[in-house]
Amino acid sequence: MIYWDYAAAAPPYEEVVRTMGQLMPLFYANPASLHGEGRRAAELLERARSTCAAALRAQPEEILFTSGATESNNLAVKGAARHPDRRGRHLVTSRIEHPSVYESFVQLANEGWEVTVVDPQADGSVTPEAVAAAVRPDTALVSIMQVNNETGALQPSAGIGRAIRAVNPRTLYHVDGVQGFGRVPGVPADWDADLYSLSAHKLRGPRGAGLLYVRRGVRLAPLLAGGGQEGGLRAGTENVPALVAASKAVRLAAENGPAEAARLRPLRDRLARFVAGLPELRLISPMDGAPHIVHFVFPGMKGEVMARQLEALGMIVSTRSACSSKTAEPSRVLLAMGLDRETAQSGVRISLGAEHTEADVAALEQAIARAVAELKPAAR
Ligand code: PMP
Repeated sequence: MIYWDYAAAAPPYEEVVRTMGQLMPLFYANPASLHGEGRRAAELLERARSTCAAALRAQPEEILFTSGATESNNLAVKGAARHPDRRGRHLVTSRIEHPSVYESFVQLANEGWEVTVVDPQADGSVTPEAVAAAVRPDTALVSIMQVNNETGALQPSAGIGRAIRAVNPRTLYHVDGVQGFGRVPGVPADWDADLYSLSAHKLRGPRGAGLLYVRRGVRLAPLLAGGGQEGGLRAGTENVPALVAASKAVRLAAENGPAEAARLRPLRDRLARFVAGLPELRLISPMDGAPHIVHFVFPGMKGEVMARQLEALGMIVSTRSACSSKTAEPSRVLLAMGLDRETAQSGVRISLGAEHTEADVAALEQAIARAVAELKPAAR
């Protein structure tokens, strides 16, 4: 079996597993406790925060630990909108966002906020011009992701940041960086972003650990009532072993990401070209997309059927994204790119990572060709 679902969850580094195993029996004290054991746990947590801050070229007090990017995104979007500092009641996002962002805006719209949803171009990217056209004097927040998790389409985060500021310097700018960090260059300061979400398990860290970068001076309303952890913004006892291990994954992504992306790029491009060359398939990922995602559709064939056929041939792939796999609805992202409903249900997402070699890609190409040949008579 070869695992091709790194965009859903990447296998953890050995160092991450080791760190968690070593820390769990030693640093179990509550970091909020005043005794020495608690203080030592708190010190470790603060070191992890500094490590993440350095990787993001931010200050430690700008890093807020969470349970993952779903929480980071909910806190960024709802927390920004609901804080009394916000003067406007208008919000902007795009049709291609992850459900943890998109559905947060749906909730806010139901609560009375006015939400403008920007559509992508046919290539799956949102232009700064489209965002600029949506921003108004009363726009409190804009949220546009760094890299789309279904297609790998890169978003022009810097251009979007400039476009927002040109219309309304007071509007907050949130970027969901889950599929971008360590894979394509850029940190929040490069885009003048106020809020930035990361998830450790996409970076070979532990599951259930993430962070939200909150630029100094930006105030949020907390989602959870409770103790005053994380500057009063995220109540609940911190998972010290997981967050320390997460900080290692974030550091390694920043340090090794560029070299790993350069290694994956030709493998991913080769696979994308192969898919584009098969008449039955249509490549959805842009050729210049992220170095780890190849998304294709097989018109007339449900994505799940193709994914199962590939699994039977030893290749573990995904249909669009794991977070959306429980719905039978066509992909909102592919619909927004102009695909019809049936084709938008035929997507397969392959995502690459550390273990993959040229030989693995060659084996995957063979499996795709065979699965297409086997399923073709059933496609309609
Ligand atoms: N945003 C994007 C772009 C993602 O790909 C994911 C993971 N599917 C998330 C947010 C949610 O991350 P987590 O699994 O840490 O909640």
